Amino acid sequence: MKKLIIVTLLIMVASCATVKQTTQSAEEDQDHLILATLWYQKSAEMRALFYQCFRNAEIALAENLAWAGRVKPAAVVLDIDETLLDNSPFQGWQVFEKKSFNNDDWFRWVELARARPLPGAVEFTRYADSLGVEVFYVSNRTVQEMGPTIENMATRGFVNADSTHMLLKETTSSKVERRALIEKDYEILLLVGDNLADHSGLYEKRGSDYGFEAVDADRHLFGTKYIVLPNPMYGNWLNEIVRSAPVSTEHEKLLNMLEGF
Ligand SMILES: [Mg+2]
Repeated sequence: MKKLIIVTLLIMVASCATVKQTTQSAEEDQDHLILATLWYQKSAEMRALFYQCFRNAEIALAENLAWAGRVKPAAVVLDIDETLLDNSPFQGWQVFEKKSFNNDDWFRWVELARARPLPGAVEFTRYADSLGVEVFYVSNRTVQEMGPTIENMATRGFVNADSTHMLLKETTSSKVERRALIEKDYEILLLVGDNLADHSGLYEKRGSDYGFEAVDADRHLFGTKYIVLPNPMYGNWLNEIVRSAPVSTEHEKLLNMLEGF
């Protein structure tokens, strides 16, 4: 009987080890990220675009600030990831390791607190601050990631890198409620982000037209109240495509969506 129990235990241990090993070695090709990540890391066009967007942000902010109808103090709201901080080394790591996004790996990257600032980002927050505009960060980094995020941003010289000005994700990814919280005491003059959900709740669900109609209807807001930064690596735009595509591999899903002639 004792022998049987030991054998059973050994089998259980062995099967657990097999399961763990399988989980760890499960590889998922991330090659679709290569070109987008390379563009982000190595194209001068990307740098120029960031400078262009933040310069536009400065002009728009100064113009909006001059508007006389404001009754509350002015604020600017910025997203963090791929707006102010460059996390593209995480995407590069995903390609090397053949790992799709998961929260544990992401947290390990965040904890390193070594994301570089994007071109023009630090300067823009300082410019807004110099005009007396309150700078807020509304990000879907989680509240558990507050410490290393503050460390990362403070080290890089961003203004207001503190828990009062950083509204991170508690339960919901939607940023609508967090923006409403700021709007109780401030008037948001400008919103800056790489994902349209950073600007308005209207763009959270893209629908069958990928949100094109909603964006077309708001065209007057882009460059005046909304500043959109380029992110070809990930975002709601991609989630929608992957979700709506028929069940197949990631590569096939993306290929299915391509337009040709
Ligand atoms: Mg972002």
